[in-house]
Amino acid sequence: MIDQNNNHHDNSGHDDERWMSRALSLAAKAGEINEVPVGAVVVLNGEIVGEGWNQPISACDPTAHAEVMALRDAAQRIGNYRLVDATLYVTIEPCTMCAGALVHARVARVVYGACEPKAGSVVSNARVFDQQEMNHHVEVRGRVMETEATELMRTFFKRRRAEKKAVRVSESR
Ligand SMILES: [Zn+2]
Repeated sequence: MIDQNNNHHDNSGHDDERWMSRALSLAAKAGEINEVPVGAVVVLNGEIVGEGWNQPISACDPTAHAEVMALRDAAQRIGNYRLVDATLYVTIEPCTMCAGALVHARVARVVYGACEPKAGSVVSNARVFDQQEMNHHVEVRGRVMETEATELMRTFFKRRRAEKKAVRVSESR
């Protein structure tokens, strides 16, 4: 069968790197407030309609992942709980909760930066978008600006380890 949607797989014209750059700066913002640096944007018709960054600790909200925050922002802004035709960009592969939320929102595409071997639920562990009973097809593109996303995480955890070590040293004095 000829794939009628074949031109969707040609990513030229999506400006993926441009939107991912914005998601990366939101991720850095999360890192600055000591949250794991993950950022997300929702793009519809060539403009950003929602932004979010990871903030479960500061918001005292276990669901406050970057993707959920960006979906909420977008849905409020456009006044619709469904984000049909929208693309969500996120710096790290979504977890099971976020992948589920993206299906509920009916986004058309998900573009992520680096894979997340432990909690990632797009390609790394459960492949949420591949489950037939989901009844909604999400187009996926991964590893966009992967190096930048990985570097943000690496620097963040390195700094946090150094800070913990410094606390232990000062406590032992
Ligand atoms: Zn998540």
